[in-house]
Amino acid sequence: MAKTWPALVLKASAVDDSEEFVSAVLADFSPVAIHDLAERPLPPGGLWDPTFPPIPDPPPTPLHWNVCFSDADERDRAALAIQEALPHLSIQAVDLPDEDWAARSQQSLKAVHAGNFIVAPPWDLPTSDDVGQIVIVIEPSMGFGTGHHATTRMCLRLLSDMDITDATVVDLGTGSGVLSMAAALMGARSVIGIDIDRDAIDSAETSARLNTLPDSITFVVSDFRADRPQPANLVLANLTGGMLTSSAAAIAALVRPGGELVLSGFDHTEVDGVRHAFGPSFTEVNRLTEDNWIALRLRR
Ligand code: SAH
Repeated sequence: MAKTWPALVLKASAVDDSEEFVSAVLADFSPVAIHDLAERPLPPGGLWDPTFPPIPDPPPTPLHWNVCFSDADERDRAALAIQEALPHLSIQAVDLPDEDWAARSQQSLKAVHAGNFIVAPPWDLPTSDDVGQIVIVIEPSMGFGTGHHATTRMCLRLLSDMDITDATVVDLGTGSGVLSMAAALMGARSVIGIDIDRDAIDSAETSARLNTLPDSITFVVSDFRADRPQPANLVLANLTGGMLTSSAAAIAALVRPGGELVLSGFDHTEVDGVRHAFGPSFTEVNRLTEDNWIALRLRR
């Protein structure tokens, strides 16, 4: 059955500062996606008009967002908090069909190559031509991370360049468990994959059983912002630009001195904010871009 997401449809009746306030309230919750549905007319000539000076921003439109949550309780708590902060906003609780679900399950029929890794569904396991590659078997299901998203692939590419033998690793927002399994298969001493979504952890555990993994890997349902994990040599965080920025201090504190961070889930409009939030105690080792998404490797 296709998945649905517990969601809120938020609408303002006029152009105001609702976006800023809603974002501030949402920072205390864990929306899995925010879709901005407000219509913004394209400037004349479109976004790629090469004339100079640059095209001014289009006129603002009233807020119209669909905000998806991983569970209905969280959605309902967020609705109350938003209603309290912004009584004038129209707020509707709905279950939105996951429109990408069918496409994703079609796509996930095939194995994907990224760096030293092949992420494969159980029915498309690689052949002996792929020697030297590390195979991660993922049962495509509710957990994000089949290798069909650019951010997952870039994290795997960044991992491919690292020596993490004997390292301790924490994977914030593990989804399907793909990055945790990659780290375990690369010889990490211990790997903890954390996700706020019970369905994701169930799917990670299902996929883990399809691989021959060392017993150094553990999956837990938890919100990393509430139950702080132990600091590690390597922290993986493929989340959202908003969450990385607002939780940067908490995430940074999880990286042991000399340790590294692999971040993704943001685009070129967000990268400076994310980079800035981690501050000067981190140096940038590498930066990848794919499909307009960005991944960073930072060292503390
Ligand atoms: N690591 C995987 C999945 C990334 S999707 C990959 O790279 O492909 C991001 C995941 O983060 C989702 O599964 C979501 O449920 C989880 N998540 C979001 N906020 C979280 C939080 N505060 N604590 C733990 N997990 C969170």
